[in-house]
Amino acid sequence: MKCIGFVGLGNMGGPMAGNLVNAGYEVKVFDLVTNLMSAVAGGTPQATAADTAKGIDVFISMLPAGRHVDALYNGEDGIIHQCDPGTLLIDCSTIDPATAQKVAAAAFDCDLNMLDAPVSGGTAGADAGTLTFMVGGKREALEQARAVLEVMGGNVFHAGDCGAGQVAKVCNNMLLAIQMVGTAEALALGVDNGLDAGVLSEIMKQSSGGNWPLNVYNPYPGVMADVPAARGYSGGFLVDLMTKDLGLAMETADQSRSSVPMGALAKNLFRVHEQLHGAGRLDFSSIQWLYKPELKS
Ligand code: NAD
Repeated sequence: MKCIGFVGLGNMGGPMAGNLVNAGYEVKVFDLVTNLMSAVAGGTPQATAADTAKGIDVFISMLPAGRHVDALYNGEDGIIHQCDPGTLLIDCSTIDPATAQKVAAAAFDCDLNMLDAPVSGGTAGADAGTLTFMVGGKREALEQARAVLEVMGGNVFHAGDCGAGQVAKVCNNMLLAIQMVGTAEALALGVDNGLDAGVLSEIMKQSSGGNWPLNVYNPYPGVMADVPAARGYSGGFLVDLMTKDLGLAMETADQSRSSVPMGALAKNLFRVHEQLHGAGRLDFSSIQWLYKPELKS
């Protein structure tokens, strides 16, 4: 049986580690917040991240941002200096591609293979084990990781070399943000002109404007059950996380000198929304309020 070290047991990492335990893996867990370790039933809490890295086959991290990942792997007591030879490293956090490449290069210098494997699917996907993994790194390393990744998610894509998983993730989330803003704008225009948001949504779903938010994540309250718009935009994918991902998309575009006017506009609209409505901890579909502020009350 494979032994796995898992660091970062927050909203995403906790249920991901839990699914690995349920699949029969021995999982050593660590988080700076102690009670998150005992929340992973069947996991073995560790005193430090370094302890998590010893005597394992696969090390997985799920952390907030690039600086945390760099410090965890590449710092003075970094994981790349603690692991046994042959340990496979997988970072599932959403971070900038440049840091992912830098940390992977440092791991290779220590004869360790590392994958960047950010995810899509949110906390619901983490709970259900249905995440999509976008993987950057050596194909052989991905094949070595595949069985473990498939416990946490059904779709595992090889995007390319180190950092490519993170590039795929920022492209996807930039497109998602643009689609959500455009959908909220079109729905507001229809309602302002006397249409019912549900009727308009059905028409657009079956027409050339159809898209993912319309199909499964409608931002207009009253159109769909079991989505954040149906519960005051609580839960779901936070505005704070979307603005973080759009920031990563802007950084990535700067590095490649790519022009991303739609992404930049979407980022600024989410920023205005966050500040105007104190919406950072609401689901990102609450961008509907920017177009229909009366929905807030
Ligand atoms: P979170 O803040 O809930 O969890 C992060 C955890 O990392 C925290 O428990 C924190 O204590 C821990 N941590 C930070 N530094 C640490 C260290 N040095 N050692 C040990 N533990 C440490 O965040 P989350 O929602 O679980 O997101 C994690 C990552 O997944 C982020 O990069 C995020 O962008 C990405 N992501 C989140 C979602 C989502 O819907 N929440 C969806 C897709 C991707």
